[in-house]
Amino acid sequence: MDAKTIFTMASIMVLANGAILTAMGRELPASLRPAARQWCLGTLLVAFGCIVFALGGPLPRPLMLTAANAGFAFGLTAYCVAIRRFLRLPVGAWLFLPALAASLVVAWFSAVMPNFHVRMAVVSVVWVGLMAMCVRDLMNRGRGEASLARSILTAMFAGVGLYAAGRCMLYLFADVSESFAVESGGNWLNVLSALLMTTLPVMGTTAFLLMCSDRLQRGLERAADTDYLTGLPNRRSLARAGVEAFLSARQAGGGLCLAVFDIDKFKAINDTYGHDAGDRVLVHVANRLRAGLRPADLIARTGGEEFVVLFRDMAEADGLAIVERMRAAVENGGFSADGEGIALTVSAGLAARATRDETYDDLLRRADAALYRAKANGRNRVEAARPDGTADARRVRTAPPALAAEDTASLAVNPEAGSAPVQISR
Ligand code: GH3
Ligand code: MG
Ligand code: MG
Repeated sequence: MDAKTIFTMASIMVLANGAILTAMGRELPASLRPAARQWCLGTLLVAFGCIVFALGGPLPRPLMLTAANAGFAFGLTAYCVAIRRFLRLPVGAWLFLPALAASLVVAWFSAVMPNFHVRMAVVSVVWVGLMAMCVRDLMNRGRGEASLARSILTAMFAGVGLYAAGRCMLYLFADVSESFAVESGGNWLNVLSALLMTTLPVMGTTAFLLMCSDRLQRGLERAADTDYLTGLPNRRSLARAGVEAFLSARQAGGGLCLAVFDIDKFKAINDTYGHDAGDRVLVHVANRLRAGLRPADLIARTGGEEFVVLFRDMAEADGLAIVERMRAAVENGGFSADGEGIALTVSAGLAARATRDETYDDLLRRADAALYRAKANGRNRVEAARPDGTADARRVRTAPPALAAEDTASLAVNPEAGSAPVQISR
């Protein structure tokens, strides 16, 4: 089979792939569409280059060579742009300069001073440079998520770059005449080159789409594990981490504490200041609570105005001290809506893993019961659960409640708030 036939078949395959990508690109979310559009453009430009090589015989030779090489060089540039858009890297006009330079060099050294060696050398340098940039960007671990599709695509870019460099060497050192034609079937390398031009548009397109699909899947997984409002992990991810931490603490005989926080009289805040202000309160409280945590601790928003914190490797006394500090951080956090200060407090229940706890749920139930007692005992306080889960809690904090019953007027900031001494008693 000669190179012309292969270029014709390559054009058909590449165009068919471009059509599939165009159709699928519309299904992608807006965040991935700019990258997919560039990949599509790259595929169409490579197809254009193949068609010119296959059918451009009747054209003046310099025009045919320039058009085909411009198609390939700008096509590979579009692939680079697609990768950079996918990885959210900046795309400047300078990216198009190598392809422009290659096109001008081919035009000059085919129309004015025909020279196959110079054309081949310059075009190869541009190809290798573009492929190396794609490999470098894809190997940048700080950008985007790692995936098998991404590694395969990286290998494809590296392969095309290496082939272009090797082919250039062979042509330069082989004894080819100045009027040598790459599109002819006169050399096995020409046939191989035509096949190689389908690597990125055909196999590369599959890898690119899989890379997009990986990102979508990870985004969905992240969304399923995250609370949309506060950005904290949600009940689902807490349960997973909680069960894991419980099992490893039980195996190692280590300490594990679980605290449940609940904003006091939150319904009144919603009713008085509106749901949007309520949402801002949730974000504010989430930030106050997480500010004092160690990297090993996990805080999650598990429902309406309820937060759960998992303290790994922590003894009860240390857990109580931290939870008390977190309670005080909310009380003294200073929050205002519509220019008016709003008094915010939380109640909390803390349970330390006890030998009687058989599952993570047992621990959670005891922390929940302790929270219930904190509410019953006047709110804005921390209660520790008893190891056996019985109802009489150990009182941890005896400050007066900052919020008086249902009276929404009591939401206004109390200047004394936070000044009450913290008493930890058992
Ligand atoms: P307590 O001190 O006993 O905890 O009283 P509370 O008012 O905080 O508790 P209650 O369970 O009566 O009210 C919780 C409220 O939280 C009711 C619900 O409308 C509100 N809520 C739940 N999720 C959200 C949310 O995402 N945003 C807002 N703004 N409000 C929410
Ligand atoms: Mg509440
Ligand atoms: Mg609640």
